[in-house]
Amino acid sequence: MSCEIVERMAACGACRTLAVDYGLNLINSRRHGANPRDWELPLTTARIELDHHLITVHAAWLPERQPGCDVCEVWRGDHVIGPMDEAEALHRAWHLCEPVRAVCTPGNHELTRLM
Ligand SMILES: [Zn+2]
Ligand SMILES: [Zn+2]
Repeated sequence: MSCEIVERMAACGACRTLAVDYGLNLINSRRHGANPRDWELPLTTARIELDHHLITVHAAWLPERQPGCDVCEVWRGDHVIGPMDEAEALHRAWHLCEPVRAVCTPGNHELTRLM
């Protein structure tokens, strides 16, 4: 099983590197008994690098405001004129990466196999 966003990322060299790095850190963070001191910083760093790449290079991939998400609902009332706020772009990048996070569980190396 695969999904569209993972396939798109697999076609971009930078996405492949950054997404695998993020994915591996995410898998480590989800291991039973994992110590936040071991994974928190590398996971945050990997996520920031991936998000930054997504919002600067692949802004066209960012999804619409998601129904049922409180954060998106807050923005729904605003009319977006001109470029999207960086905070909102980062939040949409977080939605974009949902399928990536879904496959990054201990024992599931689907992401690293795909990329
Ligand atoms: Zn990319
Ligand atoms: Zn949202």
